[in-house]
Amino acid sequence: MNWQDILFGDENLSFLAEIALRSVIMFLLLFLGLRVAGKRGVKQLSIFELLIIIALGSAAGDPMIYKEVGVIYALVVFVVIFLIYWMLTKLMEHSEKMESILEGKPFYIIRDGKASKESLSHKELAIDEFYASLRSHQIFHLGQVREGVLETNGEVSLLLFPEQEVKPGLPVWPDYLNKKTKQVPHSGIYACTNCGNTQPLSAHESALCSYCSKNDEWVEAVK
Ligand SMILES: [Zn+2]
Repeated sequence: MNWQDILFGDENLSFLAEIALRSVIMFLLLFLGLRVAGKRGVKQLSIFELLIIIALGSAAGDPMIYKEVGVIYALVVFVVIFLIYWMLTKLMEHSEKMESILEGKPFYIIRDGKASKESLSHKELAIDEFYASLRSHQIFHLGQVREGVLETNGEVSLLLFPEQEVKPGLPVWPDYLNKKTKQVPHSGIYACTNCGNTQPLSAHESALCSYCSKNDEWVEAVK
């Protein structure tokens, strides 16, 4: 085992200064590139934009540390990627179909206080992550939510019921969710922990959810 190789590879110490300079150049190029693309932050990246960022990032990394890769190579990659980005953006402006292929479509997760039919059939959807978004919107339970949409940028948009129309629903806070049982302790309105469907159950009853028919764990619905 040779520490010289592990720490410095084939190069010697003098290459470190060059790496520093290459890094500054690539940083400025990336910064300029993202300014030109008009992105203010990474919070609202769609999958399409994330792809561009990954491509730029990997092109930017090599010239920083490999002596045999000049920064001009990365510049060419940047220009080509931005041309593609620009062309696809123009295409999306003119075609909704293209837009939904590249950016995805807004997706209804909640309709009428419970999981939508489409979200039940969508297996990759992580419903727990969605509950976290609801909590950050100060939502206590699903009965408050008329419609919940997962936007293409990963944000969650909610349309709430007016106060007088709020129904009993599945609480989305962990202290409540963790109290799920198969056999309910007393009669009342209970919410399915899988889909948020509410149904009346009597004491010591255990039942399969009538809506998603996959789940038999219940939490008392709150209002
Ligand atoms: Zn259910």
